[in-house]
Amino acid sequence: MPAEAKTDLLRKLPAVHRLLDHPASRRLIESYSHDLVSEAIAHTVSEVRKEILSGRRTSEIAEEELLDAAEQYLRQQFQPHFRRVINATGVVLHTNLGRAPLAETALEAIERTARGYSNLELNLSTGERGSRYDHVEELICRLTGAEAALVVNNNAAAVLLVLRELAKGKKVIVSRGQLVEIGGSFRVSEVMKESGALLVEVGTTNKTHERDYEQAIDEETALIMRAHTSNFRIVGFTYQPPLAELVALAHRHGVPVYEDLGSGSLIDLRKFGIGDEPTVGASIAAGVDVVSFSGDKLLGGAQAGIIAGKAEYIRRIKKNQLTRALRVDKLTLAALEATLLLYFDEKRALNEIPTLYLLTRQKEELHRQAERLAEGLRAVFQDKAAVEVVEGMSQVGGGSLPTEDLPTYLVAVKTAPFSLNVLEHALRHVELPVMTTIRKEALLFDVRTIFPREIDECINSVREACKRLG
Ligand SMILES: *Cc1c(COP(=O)(O)O)cnc(C)c1O
Repeated sequence: MPAEAKTDLLRKLPAVHRLLDHPASRRLIESYSHDLVSEAIAHTVSEVRKEILSGRRTSEIAEEELLDAAEQYLRQQFQPHFRRVINATGVVLHTNLGRAPLAETALEAIERTARGYSNLELNLSTGERGSRYDHVEELICRLTGAEAALVVNNNAAAVLLVLRELAKGKKVIVSRGQLVEIGGSFRVSEVMKESGALLVEVGTTNKTHERDYEQAIDEETALIMRAHTSNFRIVGFTYQPPLAELVALAHRHGVPVYEDLGSGSLIDLRKFGIGDEPTVGASIAAGVDVVSFSGDKLLGGAQAGIIAGKAEYIRRIKKNQLTRALRVDKLTLAALEATLLLYFDEKRALNEIPTLYLLTRQKEELHRQAERLAEGLRAVFQDKAAVEVVEGMSQVGGGSLPTEDLPTYLVAVKTAPFSLNVLEHALRHVELPVMTTIRKEALLFDVRTIFPREIDECINSVREACKRLG
């Protein structure tokens, strides 16, 4: 393009102050602010200027088009980063997707507590200062059989706190088969170092006997620790002492036992054919002195670390200075209390706690839902893709029950008009993103983790993605 033509186009670019007077701008100013809209328009005009100078734009731009672009820019800048997504991965406790969705009653509790003031640390009957732990301690004790309990920020914090209070400067005996690393490089051995306790490893990776523990005990021993091997299993030629025997051995030597349960299930999921996860109650009944577990793994509540056990140890832990630093927030306590209340009626817990509902969904229901989704997707793709319902396996996730696959139904999209990678990418960039997986040349939607209310939304998101891809 000749230089004069470029100069002419540049000269015709509207001034920012004129664009700000346009009715479309006034509408934007109501949603954002004068300064933000002015900045967005200036940015857009300068982008168009660059396009003209580089020769990428050879015709005049309408004011409306400029303002549309400015609006797009504002939307992009101010769209919340933290958004809802549809989980079609089939991983129920997906750490990257926020782990456990909350029960309706937990959401109501959060709203009720957050909107105004609460009796967080006030005893309403005496009018005196109370403890924030009082609200849930009684419930945890009733559900697990523990004498006392407290709640901290997460289970990693719980492990750190228990070790610091009960074993700082002293020895903690751990089996070599349990020196686990959990996601986000949280390692038992590293937390131990951080807490000031001294790790004493006993046994081998696959076998640790009673005598291994017994021989390691001396006057410096503060604890025997059992860590749940949440995210892996050692199978084959293996041995670990049964919990009750380990407890008896430890107590003979006056040493308490601490168990990091990881997930901490309150319901025995074995009766639904899911895994071999010990319940918290079983550990307490076996005589373990202190246990800790997550609030947002199999329990299905908010992110928290629950510490429960014998009153003498819990009392000491509550007084540790670190407890204040790891303190749990009121919204978490509200959600946790509401979730725990559901456990007093197991049927309600299974229906209303989303994690338990998703884990125990019946195959027939999953099949019906997969057929519904498949039908919707066929309508979206018309004849341009092969959409099938196939059998597959979901995962518990969150480092829980690693070998436990749950039979499910998947909707598999094959030979779409675009490559599957492109489609997967587009599904993450629509208004309501859908997280899918690609395996064996198919884009997979596992319906287990898609709530029934989300099926239509999921179809809409796929429609939007296809529209964007043209
Ligand atoms: C998950 C897990 C943790 C960490 O719990 P968070 O609540 O995620 O901090 C600690 N120990 C074990 C064995 C776990 O499985």
